[in-house]
Amino acid sequence: MNQAMHRHLLRQAMPNSLTENLNKGWDLVRNNPQIFYTVFVAIIIIVGFLFTSNQFLLVADEARERFEHHRVTSMLDAFVPFAEKNLNDQELLSSVIRDIDEKNTTIENFRVILREDNDRFLILASLHPEEVGTIEDTNQFIYNIASVGHFGVDETFIVNTSKGGERFFQAAQEIKSETGETIGWAFVESSLSGFDSLAREKIRKAYIILFGIIILILFLLIRHARIIDYTTLYKRLKEVDQMKDDFVSMASHELRTPLTAIRGYADLIAGSGRLSDQDMENIKKIEVSAEQLNTLVEDILDVSRLEQGRMKFEFTDVDVNQAVQEVFGVLKPMADQKKLSYVFEKGDVGTLKLDPDRFKQVITNLVGNAIKYTKQGEVKVMTKKEGDRIEIRVSDTGIGLTAEEQKNLFRKFYRARNDDTKEIRGTGLGLWISAEIIRQMNGSISVESIKGTGSHFIVSFPS
Ligand code: ADP
Repeated sequence: MNQAMHRHLLRQAMPNSLTENLNKGWDLVRNNPQIFYTVFVAIIIIVGFLFTSNQFLLVADEARERFEHHRVTSMLDAFVPFAEKNLNDQELLSSVIRDIDEKNTTIENFRVILREDNDRFLILASLHPEEVGTIEDTNQFIYNIASVGHFGVDETFIVNTSKGGERFFQAAQEIKSETGETIGWAFVESSLSGFDSLAREKIRKAYIILFGIIILILFLLIRHARIIDYTTLYKRLKEVDQMKDDFVSMASHELRTPLTAIRGYADLIAGSGRLSDQDMENIKKIEVSAEQLNTLVEDILDVSRLEQGRMKFEFTDVDVNQAVQEVFGVLKPMADQKKLSYVFEKGDVGTLKLDPDRFKQVITNLVGNAIKYTKQGEVKVMTKKEGDRIEIRVSDTGIGLTAEEQKNLFRKFYRARNDDTKEIRGTGLGLWISAEIIRQMNGSISVESIKGTGSHFIVSFPS
């Protein structure tokens, strides 16, 4: 098998999803350089945490060491004058040493050394009784240096050392005769292992916290990557949405021409006077359907105009009562057909700066709905001044709306679906369009309704 073929087979054998995911990941990073920034911040946080914890530990370590040195030094400062006075009472010295040891858990050894004439170092008293009377030869250099002096006010010489991984320090202070001659030393060996194991425990806790932080950062990184994913998705969705809007707008425009032709010709045929009753009924059905289709197309065009900010508003002084009266008159046949009581109560509301056609479109929708969704009773339109606002209230004694339905009422394409509405045709766009138009004319719309009792739609504008 040649090498190229081998590579080819290897590539085939590699799980496709792995390479795909790697490629996807790389693309994501390449297209979103901000990921580098996040990773950089994550690394800085981790390094910063490690650095500061380390600094804290160093400071604590130093402070503890200094404290231990000081403690042992003070102990020797107190012990040495006592030893100088009681050098000949070996028993007393030993018992004091044992006392000191009981109160100081870090002490590993405590000795009183005597310098003999032949410069040998005799252990006079010790924490370990087996040493007493023997000659000390391992720590001679400490005693010699301690005798040189100048280590501080107390003249204690201290040396740090370690045994089997554990840290110790040894301290020696001279014992002098009455004439000031060095006759021996007090020697202490103290362990720092207690502190070290405490420090190790702290470090372990710090690492657990660091681990938690790393997990948190990883979690944030994953979320960040997801958000970036969503952003890309959102951008794409917006593009698709725009395409859809353009298409809807174009398609609705294109539908208008054949619809106008259908309505025109149906009108022409209906008016010809040569139709049988049956044909006349059929042509009326065509007219009604064409009318419904026309409303739908107009609604969709309005939605796309409003969404794209293309709806034009021409504001002029509008006589509110007059405009409402016009709409009221146009819709009267519809109300009469359903034998509804149909009332318009005019208040003293004067004029408002509005787009007259758009204003009438809104009132047509509201009064039309009131008639459409009322089986019997009354549809009433009222205009009145409420404080510094002018209100147009359309009320009916119709099917009403539940609280849930009222919540969704002004959403695009929303229609309350129940037994009362299933026979009534509509697009669910009218109220959304009305609410948008009112908003763009600086007004507001609200609803008050009780299911089965009726509804009030209130439109208000600042006067
Ligand atoms: P359409 O009437 O074409 O369905 P609208 O946006 O005008 O669309 O109304 C949305 C929905 O609100 C209607 O389907 C209906 O369920 C409910 N609705 C509107 N006006 C009334 C009303 N006066 N009484 C009861 N329900 C109403």
